[in-house]
Amino acid sequence: MFCMAAQSLGYKVAVLDPGADSPAGNIADRHVHADYLDAAGLARLSSIARAATTEFENVPAAALEFLARTARVSPAAAAVAIAQDRIREKGFLAGHGFAVAPYAVLATVGDATAVDAALVPGIVKSARFGYDGKGQTRVNTASEVATAFRAMGSVPCVLERFVDLSCEVSVIVARDAAGATATWPVAENRHRNGILDVSIVPARVPPELADQARAVATRVAAALDYRGVLCVELFVTRDGTLLVNEIAPRPHNSGHYTIDACVTSQFEQQARVLAGLPLGDTRQHEPAVMVNLLGDLWFDGAAATVPREPDWPAVLAHPQAKLHLYGKAEARRGRKMGHVTCLAPTQVEALAVAHAIKRSLGIPGADEI
Ligand code: AMP
Repeated sequence: MFCMAAQSLGYKVAVLDPGADSPAGNIADRHVHADYLDAAGLARLSSIARAATTEFENVPAAALEFLARTARVSPAAAAVAIAQDRIREKGFLAGHGFAVAPYAVLATVGDATAVDAALVPGIVKSARFGYDGKGQTRVNTASEVATAFRAMGSVPCVLERFVDLSCEVSVIVARDAAGATATWPVAENRHRNGILDVSIVPARVPPELADQARAVATRVAAALDYRGVLCVELFVTRDGTLLVNEIAPRPHNSGHYTIDACVTSQFEQQARVLAGLPLGDTRQHEPAVMVNLLGDLWFDGAAATVPREPDWPAVLAHPQAKLHLYGKAEARRGRKMGHVTCLAPTQVEALAVAHAIKRSLGIPGADEI
């Protein structure tokens, strides 16, 4: 999606990706097929790219540092390094005065056996390489913390107190080299099995809370001296308080709706920042509901082993539905394969379309939204 946005502004795009059949590599003008830390691959990329960005926060910060010697790199390696590691991320956020869920760092088994009872029930989260709910274990008692920590291989973790949530929201913010920022309307995010299922935009929260969320995201971007597109995920607690959950240093799944619903998409904005162009307008034309399409849809029932194509004509029978398929070669259960954005003059209508599409594709939870 980034490639397409940059190309429509007239740029050529090269993608470094270790995958042979890389969806972005297939769309890009050039696919440098190499590992993220492959010296020859990085040298090749730096010889052709004037600016570089990452779509994936687990790209080693060292790769971005290397590219920064010759190219404009947004976001900077330092900001990506913070977002890559929950311990650094939480320390950064709390240290800059942002409200986060109560937590403790678990560096050793000793830490995990001596936790503050006020932090349970909670969730043990690995500091690195956790996404879509992976690398997380729910714990109900203090004694379960050490068991969970050991079961996760005794890698550095955080223990986070379980928060009573009213809903989860996110704000996509873009910040350019001069410090100008723009935020998009707040997205209300529903998860299923720890994976984003639906984003409803604008979020169904009081306008003051939405303004507050956008202000928090703007302040997080400034505190990081961030350049590029950033997603700030927030919890809304039952008593209406905002807590920063995590930050993603890139365009985010909860901002995919911007392609169809906004004047400027998060991907175009990323290209603009990279190119040193002014930020585009983030206004939303119409209420939107984004429904994620996971690989499960390719399998007809729990026992199926051979994938088959879902019924896209049934989706496209809804004129308000915009289908995006990412071109991933293999459908796997839980893998994000695409999304549908439902657009309508009112949120109720957009939700009804999303509901109908979920039903026709057999996505669970059609009644919940
Ligand atoms: P994360 O990877 O940290 O975003 O966690 C994945 C999902 O788990 C979140 O989107 C929430 O739905 C849930 N979650 C994570 N941390 C907490 C928490 N401290 N309290 C309640 N729910 C949580």
